[in-house]
Amino acid sequence: MTRSGRENPAVLRPLLLDWFTRSQRSLPWRHTHDPYAIWVSEVMLQQTRVAVVLDRYREFLERFPTVQSLARATEAEVLTVWSGLGYYRRARMLHRGAQQVCAEHGGQLPGTFAALLALPGIGPYTASAIASIAFGEPVAAVDGNVERVVLRLVGADAGQGTVLRRVQACADQLLDPDSPGNWNQAMMELGATVCLPRAPHCEACPWIAACATRGEHLTVKRPPMRSVAVAYHWTVRGAGDRQNLLLVQRDQEQTVMAGMWELPEAADHAHDPAQPLLRLRHAIMQMNYEVAIYPGEATLRLPSKRTFRWVTQKQAQALPLTGLARKVMQRLGWLPARKSLVAAPKIKAQKM
Ligand code: SF4
Repeated sequence: MTRSGRENPAVLRPLLLDWFTRSQRSLPWRHTHDPYAIWVSEVMLQQTRVAVVLDRYREFLERFPTVQSLARATEAEVLTVWSGLGYYRRARMLHRGAQQVCAEHGGQLPGTFAALLALPGIGPYTASAIASIAFGEPVAAVDGNVERVVLRLVGADAGQGTVLRRVQACADQLLDPDSPGNWNQAMMELGATVCLPRAPHCEACPWIAACATRGEHLTVKRPPMRSVAVAYHWTVRGAGDRQNLLLVQRDQEQTVMAGMWELPEAADHAHDPAQPLLRLRHAIMQMNYEVAIYPGEATLRLPSKRTFRWVTQKQAQALPLTGLARKVMQRLGWLPARKSLVAAPKIKAQKM
C-alpha cells in the first residue's frame, strides 16, 4: 500500500487545507460550534445528499433548538419533522440519544470519541466527526467519501479486504492533529465535490501530483437498482376545508418506517380499469418504485388491524408521513412543497 512519499502527511496536509480554505462550500453546520447542531447535521448527512439536508436541518433546529427540546419531544413529533429524509431509524436513535444525554450527561453532549460512541445511533464515523469538529479531538473520520479518496490516493483496490481494513490506519496517519475538525471536513469535501465516485475531477484536486490513480475508478461496486410496481389509493371525502384524506399507519413491528403514515395500498392495481391520478418514481436504497395512485372509494375496505385516520390538510402536517406519502401529497396539492412544521396541530386517532 505504501508508495514513496505518496502518503507523506507533511506534503499532503497543507495542500488539502489550503484547497479547503479556498474551495469549501458555505454550509450552515460549518458556521456553528454547538456540538448538538453538529451532531444533528452528521446524522442527517448519513446517506442523504447535502442539497436535501440543507432545508431540513434548519427546519429541525427551528423545531428542536436544543438537546433538551429534542429529548422532551415525542417520537411521533420527531418523525414528523424528519419525514421525507428517509432512514427513520436515524431519527429514532437521535431522539433516544438526546434523552440519554439529558439523563446521564446533564444535557451536555460528552466531548470524547469514546463517550460519544456509547450514545444510541452513534458509530465510529459519527463519533469521530463530532469529537474532532466540536471538541478538537484528533480522530480521523472515515465515511464512504473519505474511504474512496484514500483508496485512490494510495492506489489500493477496494475489493481487497485487507486493504479496506487498513484505510482507517492510513486516514489516521494523514490526519492533521493540530486541526482535526477542519481536516476531517476537508477530506469529506474532497470526496463529495472533487473525488467523485464515477468521474473524479482530478484536474481540480490538490493531490493530483501525489495521487497513485489520478482518476482510475477504484470504487466499491454497488448492486444495480431493481424496479418494482406499486399502487396506492387516494381516497378523499367531504369538500373544501372539510375535505379529509384517508391514511393508514404502518405496523409497529415492521422493520422499516414502523409506525409511520402512508396511503392505503391498492392490491389489485394490475387489473384496475380506472386511470391513475398520478404516476411517479420513488427510489429507496437499491429499489426504484414505479408508483401509481388510483382514486379510491370512501368505502374502501382496509385489512383488519390496520389503524387509519381521515385527516385534513393541516392535520396531515402533524403526522410522521413516509417519504413517498409526502411526495404524493405534495404532487396532488394536498401539502405545500415545503412548509415549516412548527406548531402543527395535534389530532386524535379514529376507530375502524
Ligand atoms: S487525483 Fe483524482 S483520483 Fe486522486 S484523489 Fe484527487 S480526485 Fe481523487
